[in-house]
Amino acid sequence: MKNYPLESYLRQKNEIDTAIAKVLASGFYILGGEVVAFEQDFAGYLGVNHAVGLANGTDALQVALRAGGIRSGDEVITVSNTAVATVAAIEMVGAQPVLVDIDPMRYTLDPDLLVEAISEKTKAVIAVHLYGHPADIYAIKTICEDHSVLLIEDCAQAHGAMIEGKKVGTIGDYGAFSFYPTKNLGAIGDGGMLVTNNTESADRIRALRQYGWIERNNSSEPGVNSRLDEIQAAILRVKLPYLDLDNEFRRRVAQIYTDTIDYSSVLTPTQATNCLHVYHQYVIQANDRDGLRKHLKEQGIDTQVHYPIPIHLQDAYRGRIQQSGNLEVTECLSERILSLPMHPYLTETEIYEICNKINSF
Ligand SMILES: *Cc1c(COP(=O)(O)O)cnc(C)c1O
Repeated sequence: MKNYPLESYLRQKNEIDTAIAKVLASGFYILGGEVVAFEQDFAGYLGVNHAVGLANGTDALQVALRAGGIRSGDEVITVSNTAVATVAAIEMVGAQPVLVDIDPMRYTLDPDLLVEAISEKTKAVIAVHLYGHPADIYAIKTICEDHSVLLIEDCAQAHGAMIEGKKVGTIGDYGAFSFYPTKNLGAIGDGGMLVTNNTESADRIRALRQYGWIERNNSSEPGVNSRLDEIQAAILRVKLPYLDLDNEFRRRVAQIYTDTIDYSSVLTPTQATNCLHVYHQYVIQANDRDGLRKHLKEQGIDTQVHYPIPIHLQDAYRGRIQQSGNLEVTECLSERILSLPMHPYLTETEIYEICNKINSF
């Protein structure tokens, strides 16, 4: 199986090498022209007013919480079936994560359970568009508005995903993106972006990413150091124009999987109405997940589990993290889910081979 980040670099090697050389020769290595240009490109791609480059996706979530005024004592609701980064970001600002269960079809935050989880301490919700499928974000947004709660979209796995014709990240108060190398849009190192339609929020984010500076060496509030790297911005500018085509390729891979995998043993993912899935992961469910995984491994097919241990059951959080309800869907699915190989450059031969090996199990 190909190394996706390497393959992705090699496909645009000349353009990327040229872009890097240009930065090296420019002498501007922090928040130079490439970061500004990529922020504009990315905002234009999404159809949002402002985009601010940050050091990584976790910081994008953290800075969104800071910009939204979230602090110690506040509760922030999210899910347990997500990258640990989502929950880590909440604790980075001193707030208390409250975990709720997910919708078993979408694998994302269940709006009905969200209503039950909201307390007078709830100040924000982080909805994760997991695996590249949009969360039920309009239902979630209505609930957040009714309770005057901030809505942050975690779009780290969903660059280009759409719901009702709008790109995810543009619907809530903030959209947080990661450019970790394996994401649908990946840097050659770390990178992140926080987007918003609100001009005041954007200004605050720009200050927060540099110690709260409103001008050099004059902080208006305590901030962090979290800047998108100039070289990474130059690389991401090269790669952004290929994102939609790559996502199209991912959907083609998914379509073949869905059409070819034998339904009697395995449940394949679905796409909710009015949603455009970008298949960061293609996640199936199997009764004997571990057996299937071993069977594939023995035949040279590497699979993964996103995520094998729900966050509330991990050592760092178990026993102290707040949860609303019993998280039974999350716990049950963690033993059934399996992420098949997924990236835009899988060949038809490779995809059919994987399907045959699943069907022979
Ligand atoms: C990757 C990821 C993050 C964190 O992004 P980093 O750039 O690695 O900090 C946050 N949330 C989700 C859902 C992710 O998949």
